[in-house]
Amino acid sequence: MNRLLLCGAVKPFGIKDEASEPLCTMELLNNQVTREQGIHSPRSNNPSFALYLMAENIHVPVTVLDFPTWEEFTKEIDSGEYTHVGISFIIPNVLKIRRMTGYIREHSPQTRILLGGHGTAIPELKNIVEYDDICHGEGISWLRRYFGEDPDSPIIHPAIPSSINAYVYGAPIPVKGGIIIPGVGCQNSCRFCATSHKFDRKYTPFLPTGLDIFKACRKSEETLGVDDFGLMDENFCKNPQRARELLDQMEEHGKAYSFATFSSAETISKLGTDFLVRLGVNFIWIGVESKANLFEKTRGIDLNRLIQDLQDHGITVLASSILFLEHHDKKTIHEDIDWAIGLKSDLTQFMGLGPSAGTQLYREYEAEGKIIHDIPYPRKHGQDEIWFRHPHFTLPETAVYLRDAFIKKYHAHGPGVLNMAHTAVKGYLRVKEETAKRERLGMQWDPDSLKYIPGLKTPPDTFMQLRLDCMRRYALRFRPILKTTLKYSPNAKAAAKCREVIELYRTAFGPMTLSERMRSIAVRILASREQRRIERDGVVMRQPPACRITYPDRSSQYSSSDHSMPTVSAEEDSTEIKIA
Ligand code: SF4
Repeated sequence: MNRLLLCGAVKPFGIKDEASEPLCTMELLNNQVTREQGIHSPRSNNPSFALYLMAENIHVPVTVLDFPTWEEFTKEIDSGEYTHVGISFIIPNVLKIRRMTGYIREHSPQTRILLGGHGTAIPELKNIVEYDDICHGEGISWLRRYFGEDPDSPIIHPAIPSSINAYVYGAPIPVKGGIIIPGVGCQNSCRFCATSHKFDRKYTPFLPTGLDIFKACRKSEETLGVDDFGLMDENFCKNPQRARELLDQMEEHGKAYSFATFSSAETISKLGTDFLVRLGVNFIWIGVESKANLFEKTRGIDLNRLIQDLQDHGITVLASSILFLEHHDKKTIHEDIDWAIGLKSDLTQFMGLGPSAGTQLYREYEAEGKIIHDIPYPRKHGQDEIWFRHPHFTLPETAVYLRDAFIKKYHAHGPGVLNMAHTAVKGYLRVKEETAKRERLGMQWDPDSLKYIPGLKTPPDTFMQLRLDCMRRYALRFRPILKTTLKYSPNAKAAAKCREVIELYRTAFGPMTLSERMRSIAVRILASREQRRIERDGVVMRQPPACRITYPDRSSQYSSSDHSMPTVSAEEDSTEIKIA
């Protein structure tokens, strides 16, 4: 009987050893968004979502082992239980995978090794890692075919937390969120985009309708007790009909869930800010890329205005831009950095142009002889030196430009968490005022035009009251950290902004409650300990805890002709998540 172990790369992360580099911490914000913000940088890890999604959707018995130590991984292999081991990995972790697969070959030679994830794009992978089979694209249907199951069976969405090991100022973050994966890939096909190319430049939906997404949210709410979600979709607003259906479902059931997601500027503009606020988007990641407007997705869009409008309505904006594009020289790169900072988004990602294997960019650069092949893979993550020849920059210079861009953003606009708090509280006040005004004017939401229009007999907008409660709770999450943000402000401008934000909280919510004051004191105490650790060690790395889940043989549970989503209930979710 087949038995599968699905696992990710072994710990530790963010330290230098023979298989890893310090700038690859497996943390999204700290690694490449709030980088260089020291104690102000929120810390967390995201579970390896694909492992749980695949395990939930195949019938063979599976064990998921996420973030294992070497000892935990080898113990699993030594158990002799597995006919197959599937490992998902990113390119910078390939040397860890070499060690893991080497161990499997030596200690369990009968076990077949399956590889998946972005790391499989490495052209000479066969020379680096031992394996038997490889999945280059979407993993669920691939595994189903591999084990002789129906690749078109309905997708069952698991209940998974969006992050683990979350801290800010050294204080654990108690707020929990869930992750929803509506689909993978993106048809926009930007030439540098590894995700788009990995999934064959097309979008593969897992949850094709708004109802499917809503059911997945309800399942997570019932299982994990969360109502805030990361919508892990490269371009969620690209399918406006699905987003509209999701809002319809939430309104019908009186559920004001909130969402963080990724979307391109052109799709956001089409849906409009009123819709996104109503839908509950509180965080959006937009690829602004470059002032030069090289990509279809930003052409004709007034990004300054769009970003400002979203932030004014409580939506945190992360603007992502690329350095070392073809047109960048020592002058234009500064223009682009200043332009990206000038968008005044709450958070900015600067990413070095990375011709990742598998992309159109890689093929072009390879054909032109621009790729430098002797850069070690652990350094190919976009936050270190580039790995191609650029006519205007030496490799060491590129690492310095990147670091300095983050420092410039930090000094211009202060800590990212401060900007997020500012956006949350000012957005709450604005939306509250607009909602009240619309009610006075007798305006109501029109789901067809996605606008508020005059109504004849206008009932109170009860859904917006739920939404406002949700925005209020979201804004208040930041309040206990603000005194600490002020204490460690990087400059006078950031300190003044922080005082302003503290005052805005007082205007919006009155004086701090006893509980908020206690939490505020606790954060300050933990922050001083964290600051001492940063001063002593340079950085504090908290390794993510391992997560091990076993999924039994489910071959008799679902019939392949059943194409409806299973009814979601807490009792049905038999999976027990154990954080070791
Ligand atoms: S829009 Fe974003 S996700 Fe889509 S191809 Fe371009 S960079 Fe990739």
